[in-house]
Amino acid sequence: MRVGIPRERREGERRVAATPETVRQLTGLGLTLVVERGAGEASGQADSRYAEAGAELVDALDLGAIDVLVHVRPLTPATPGRLRRGAITVGLGSPSTELPTVRALRDAGVTAFALELVPRISRAQSMDALTSQALVAGYRCVLEAAMRLPRFFPLYMTAAGTIPPAKVLVLGAGVAGLQAIGTAKRLGARVSANDVRPASADEVASMGGTFISLDLETAEAAGGYAKELGEDRAAQQRRLLAPHIADADVLITTAAIPGRPAPLLVTAEMVAAMRPDSVVVDLAAESGGNVEGSVAGRDVLVPTASGEGTVTIVGMKDAASTMPADASRLYAKNVANLLALMTADGLVEPDFGDEVIAGACLTHAGEVRHPPTAEALG
Ligand code: NAD
Repeated sequence: MRVGIPRERREGERRVAATPETVRQLTGLGLTLVVERGAGEASGQADSRYAEAGAELVDALDLGAIDVLVHVRPLTPATPGRLRRGAITVGLGSPSTELPTVRALRDAGVTAFALELVPRISRAQSMDALTSQALVAGYRCVLEAAMRLPRFFPLYMTAAGTIPPAKVLVLGAGVAGLQAIGTAKRLGARVSANDVRPASADEVASMGGTFISLDLETAEAAGGYAKELGEDRAAQQRRLLAPHIADADVLITTAAIPGRPAPLLVTAEMVAAMRPDSVVVDLAAESGGNVEGSVAGRDVLVPTASGEGTVTIVGMKDAASTMPADASRLYAKNVANLLALMTADGLVEPDFGDEVIAGACLTHAGEVRHPPTAEALG
């Protein structure tokens, strides 16, 4: 069967869905890999390396002639109609925001797998793109903060005096937040963090952070995810966090609720109460924002309440794509491992009796298989 790898077209996207390494892996399973020229260029993979790995290179993918399309960003609504009925797609689907594409996949009879839907169970960890890409994003947002802070992260004791370590506060200690904690620790900062899930205190400690315990009930939903707080508790959380935020040099926010807009954890007033030159990095800026006033892809300068300077709010955008080489390496492995699970004797034939395959399926045989998305489509 022919597996197509396109050059990603969305502005700002620099990742690719297959690397020469995964081309070798999939070719070894009897699949034929067809790579659009330039597909790996932005992530440092030359066409020649794909050819050496056994891929066929083409100037433009003939979508009607491939059996499986692997991709990074959700497809445009025009793409499914160009695939043959029964074709398979594997990539990010963003089902809650890309409903026109889901409808088009369903109507075109495409079997689409969305990596966001891969169940988060041990057996599927090697296919978990949310985790692999959050790792990249969590690391990167600390570097973005460090580059903007006019101070060191580590403690320095020098002949010319002692420089205290920067104080970094991380809100939301999921995969990205834990990476941010670990990265800030490795840079020498004093790191504290808060999350609403009960397990997070131990997780924060395991990364070397100090957990900030608020006098607030924990909020956990099924599958180990956080539950949205009611407005009263959200306001209480903001009130309890305010002094910790005012004391931080760097604030990194990564809080998310699956399928919902990001919770607002930090008001404009709380930002203005920070010290001059402090830096806030909002990793959730693209999904509604944890910080009032953050704008995805921009730095916003907020005057401090003391009138003595500004706080910079960095609205992260395409975070994983800012490190395309390693982000692609991990993402491509996630894609290839899911594809390998469905492949035998050179044929990709999903077994819907497998909970990972069934769970990851967005559309199949003219139906939307993910109940919340089916409901949203009506
Ligand atoms: P996520 O991206 O959905 O959310 C990020 C973090 O924000 C979460 O830790 C969440 O609890 C937190 N959050 C939400 N509302 C908050 C608020 N008001 N204040 C503070 N924090 C808030 O989460 P994620 O990184 O995808 O991880 C979610 C869960 O899935 C975690 O329990 C994680 O350990 C688990 N997980 C399991 C696997 C696996 O078993 N394969 C893989 C990855 C993650």
